[in-house]
Amino acid sequence: MRELIIDLDAVAANLATMRARVGKALVLGVVKANAYGHGMIQVARKLEAAGVDYLGVADIDEALELREASIDLPILAWLHDPQQNFVRAVDAGIELGVANIAQVEAIAKAAEHLGRVARIHLKIDTGLGRNGASEQQWPQLLQTVHGLVAEGFVQVVGIFSHLSCTTEADDLAQIVRFDKAVEQARAAGVEFELRHLTASDGSIKYPQAHYEMVRIGVALYGLSPFEENSAADFNLRPAMTATAKVSLVKRVEAGEGVSYGYLHRTVSQSTLALIAVGYAEGLPRAASGKAKVSIKGKTYDVNSRVAMDQFVLDVGNDSVKAGDLVTIFGDPASGVPSADDLAAACGTINYEIVTRMGGRFKRSYLGEEV
Ligand SMILES: *Cc1c(COP(=O)(O)O)cnc(C)c1O
Repeated sequence: MRELIIDLDAVAANLATMRARVGKALVLGVVKANAYGHGMIQVARKLEAAGVDYLGVADIDEALELREASIDLPILAWLHDPQQNFVRAVDAGIELGVANIAQVEAIAKAAEHLGRVARIHLKIDTGLGRNGASEQQWPQLLQTVHGLVAEGFVQVVGIFSHLSCTTEADDLAQIVRFDKAVEQARAAGVEFELRHLTASDGSIKYPQAHYEMVRIGVALYGLSPFEENSAADFNLRPAMTATAKVSLVKRVEAGEGVSYGYLHRTVSQSTLALIAVGYAEGLPRAASGKAKVSIKGKTYDVNSRVAMDQFVLDVGNDSVKAGDLVTIFGDPASGVPSADDLAAACGTINYEIVTRMGGRFKRSYLGEEV
């Protein structure tokens, strides 16, 4: 009845496109949040086969799920519970982002308990004002880490930060602060192999800031990180197509109200087509009266209210039948609305659209690694 079609070959092609952009830098593929709604395990397996260097997730639980699926790549997890127990993560060889002294002490404790060396990446907040140590906390953190390295509990693999991508001037200021934090680490005797700063946007915009690794999320899914550019501008191909079959059609008279609140009334005798996708599936209610969908190459306005389970299209006198395929979004190269179009209609960004797709959608995969 409803299907998210995930083209994993597009993901692999997008990886190759981004790799060509970033030259020698390693590529960490970001697969957090169920790979932005695309299916974490399937995407991770495809990226592994396509030669990605690292995987990145927010939560340790996501990283453990990847390990349970026998994915052996280096995995970095960077967002932790304040009372996080790191034993399972260290035992599974998950690399851990560190934002403060409490975290690295808890990680060292887990490593000591296991008789292993924990691999960590120190995160400096260079101006996003989000995760990571502040510039004030940084020297103390370095000192603590230096001691724990000497005791043999932790190994610093990398130093990282994240750009705000507000203005170019703001980003360049963050790059300067990042370089300074790296220098401070060296001066404190903390050794590491990888500096990584840029996500999809910064990796495209600032070739001077690729360092030894880049962290690529949205671009792998074939979406543009910039609202003012389409994915095609960067040779990226959208991997997700959201489709459903028309569940039923019926003829109604002129002047009939359609769906909650009667945002729409028929102006003449019309065919109404019911589609079993609602906000429970991630089609925002804000799409009501704003979005467009495609049936057999023709686009229709979603002019009535999106409900929890369904929405209705007034298709006039077109010969739309039960069972016809409706494309809610996909690759605009094939003439259908894009995730960017739906995002613009709903006042949000493509990231949020694909990440929240789910509910009762079934995912099916093209190009799956088995
Ligand atoms: C989500 C995330 C990324 C990936 O960002 P994209 O814009 O999707 O490429 C990279 N780094 C961190 C720290 C993140 O949280």
